Amino acid sequence: MRSYKAKTVEPISLPSREKRNRILEEAGYNAFNVDAADVYVDLLTDSGTGAMSGEQWAAMMRGDEAYAGSRSFHELREAVADVMGFSRVVPAHQGRGAENALYGVLVEEGDTVLNNAHFDTTRAHIANQGADPVDCPVEGARDPTHDAPFKGNFDLARGRTVVDDVGAENVPAIVVTITNNSTAGQPVSVENLRQVRELADEIDATLVVDACRFVENAYFVKEREDEFADWSIADIAREQLTYADAAVMSGKKEGLTNIGGFVAMRSGEYREDDGGVDHDALFERVKQRAILYEGFPTYGGMAGRDVAALAVGLREAVEPPYVEDRVEQVRELGDRLKEAGAPIYEPVGGHAVYVDAGAFLPEIPREQLPGQALVCELYREGAVRGVELGEFAFPGADRMQLVRLALPRRTYGREQLEHVAETAAAVAERREEVSGLEVVAEPPMKELRHFSAELRPVE
Ligand SMILES: *Cc1c(COP(=O)(O)O)cnc(C)c1O
Repeated sequence: MRSYKAKTVEPISLPSREKRNRILEEAGYNAFNVDAADVYVDLLTDSGTGAMSGEQWAAMMRGDEAYAGSRSFHELREAVADVMGFSRVVPAHQGRGAENALYGVLVEEGDTVLNNAHFDTTRAHIANQGADPVDCPVEGARDPTHDAPFKGNFDLARGRTVVDDVGAENVPAIVVTITNNSTAGQPVSVENLRQVRELADEIDATLVVDACRFVENAYFVKEREDEFADWSIADIAREQLTYADAAVMSGKKEGLTNIGGFVAMRSGEYREDDGGVDHDALFERVKQRAILYEGFPTYGGMAGRDVAALAVGLREAVEPPYVEDRVEQVRELGDRLKEAGAPIYEPVGGHAVYVDAGAFLPEIPREQLPGQALVCELYREGAVRGVELGEFAFPGADRMQLVRLALPRRTYGREQLEHVAETAAAVAERREEVSGLEVVAEPPMKELRHFSAELRPVE
């Protein structure tokens, strides 16, 4: 049952079928080109699209806009210390700004960085440093039917093999992304984090946790890792992060805000067996780089009011009702889609349901982009917007043809979940008629083509 009610509302409407057909054509069969006003249920992303609480809006009014040393910054620092256990924080305009500030000083040309699976902006920042981002997913992570509690885990054997190949001195950082966004939002166990910490200590690498969805991860740990069954979500959320030297955070995820982010770090004395990481030096260097790219380190590219809302949002994220509502709502969407005949990635992860478009539209070969065809049909049928994560987004990569339906936080209700499932059922009913797509125009950078390319149905 929902633990909140609406106080501010935003009207949404379903355009007529005729209009949806026209919009799809005008958008070049790319949902990124559709106006939000023409979308009824927008599941494009859970990033910065959720609703803030009354307390967060109140904090915005009280936000301190001072350039240096603002009160709102101190509130954020205290919230990060209480909720995440890090005594130091360098704010940034959003998660990727934090990634730039941290990886820009930690990673050098020729280095290798390990990650359970790099999120796309993380991969881009590592590559931008001239380094090699290497994924270490566990066996079964890419299998949508494999049943395991922690499919987001970091594969230590694979990590050790890579370290042996490239030399420990060339691996400055190991990153663990919780939950694992690029692996269908699957969780990582605390036991796995402990083992990664050991590896990091052995090779004197900095252990970074990409903490964007650290509370969703804590919920799965409580549910699935016996040792933590009786712990509170807040305690698990913090415990997971004690293994990290630093964390990268996007406020747009579990900061429960519409913008913002930060790097959080330990102070020098926090962990005695810290594998040789000089936390004081790291903090100073991250701060200097953040001044260059983000802003003075007490606002970091955010307005003071956004800093204030983030401080409140972080505390709300670990209060009991939020995360239970959140993860169970995503799971309910998964159940309803399955009932509607849509094959999905299982178990369902923390922030989104991933539909296996290859299995949903088996007549459409990979080159004709079955995922993007499904995205278009979900829009045509019910003005539902999702995003393709398959051949269209990652051309030439050998991966599943998935469509992600990400739920914004505290935003939609059960009626809308029903609508999404009914829409999927209607598409399933006429799946033989759905045609594949071909790209007719794309930008020069292939990695970014799904944001702006134009397509048309294959004749
Ligand atoms: C969203 C996200 C980021 C980047 O955050 P932005 O605020 O979008 O820049 C980094 N890592 C993960 C796992 C994310 O989900």
